[in-house]
Amino acid sequence: MPRVAQVETTAGPVDAGDLGLTLIHEHLRVRSESVARAFPRIYDEEHERTRALDWVSQAVARGVRTICDPSVMEHDRDVRLQAEVAGEAGVQLVVATGIYTYHYLPEHFRNREIEYMVDQFVSDIEEGIQGTDIKAGFIKCCTDAQGVTEDVEKVLRAAARASKQTGRPIMTHSHPASGAGVAQMGIFNEEEVDPQKVLIGHTGDTDSMNYIETLLGMGPFIGMDRYGLDILLPTERRNWTVTELCDRGYADRMFLSQDACCTIDWYPEELLREAAPNWNMTYLLDDVIPALKESGVTDDQIKTMMEDNPPRWLAG
Ligand SMILES: [Zn+2]
Repeated sequence: MPRVAQVETTAGPVDAGDLGLTLIHEHLRVRSESVARAFPRIYDEEHERTRALDWVSQAVARGVRTICDPSVMEHDRDVRLQAEVAGEAGVQLVVATGIYTYHYLPEHFRNREIEYMVDQFVSDIEEGIQGTDIKAGFIKCCTDAQGVTEDVEKVLRAAARASKQTGRPIMTHSHPASGAGVAQMGIFNEEEVDPQKVLIGHTGDTDSMNYIETLLGMGPFIGMDRYGLDILLPTERRNWTVTELCDRGYADRMFLSQDACCTIDWYPEELLREAAPNWNMTYLLDDVIPALKESGVTDDQIKTMMEDNPPRWLAG
């Protein structure tokens, strides 16, 4: 019998074929790490935990079996909290290693070689995160409007090398308006990463078919993963893009998700709810997928994006 490919979750490895309906990019909690460390009085941990359990449970009630949470360094990642919430909500949670920065690194990493950073990522993947035996299922890195700064490049190359060393895939945060996804693929190519191991996140923030097809031509998966953030691109434009890409035969390269943060401290909560009222963990299943079907996306294509692509990327 050939060994069945497995995916690490907070409750240990599961067979890749058992992932089921998967949200590829959602956050149980996002905090500004240095602020949370210095001024813990600002935060209500009970509220954060309750909200995370509530939102994840609502997704589970709609059939979601697996969630990938790319919360890493600079999101104030807490793998024990992630594991507790996942266990209580009854979801398979795949957690990540990596560093979330748009521009600079702490001096600690600036003043050390790339390989030192690679070692930290590999340790999260092979030994466990934050002193637990919970292993990272994928690697997260970023490029935003600032472009590939010296420090961002260091993280991208470290992610690439950790991926090659461990076989774990990479998920990026990108900024399509500045061509960040294409720039990221350029670096991953230099590092000789298999493009099938790469998911260029936030590609759905643009409706430029030209940009998206250029990126797809480089071989990665793409994330149409910020449904509910209409301030960046309205749902109607996101749906138009996904429908068009399905028509052009790209369903096997796309993921649909929301990048929803059960709680996030970047903005005052009232402001956030007002600016993005649909940004939650069930908008995709309740509103977006029915609308996509009305615009001609087939059940098969939805299944490809929501159920078949996750094991291909995570364990391919
Ligand atoms: Zn995110």
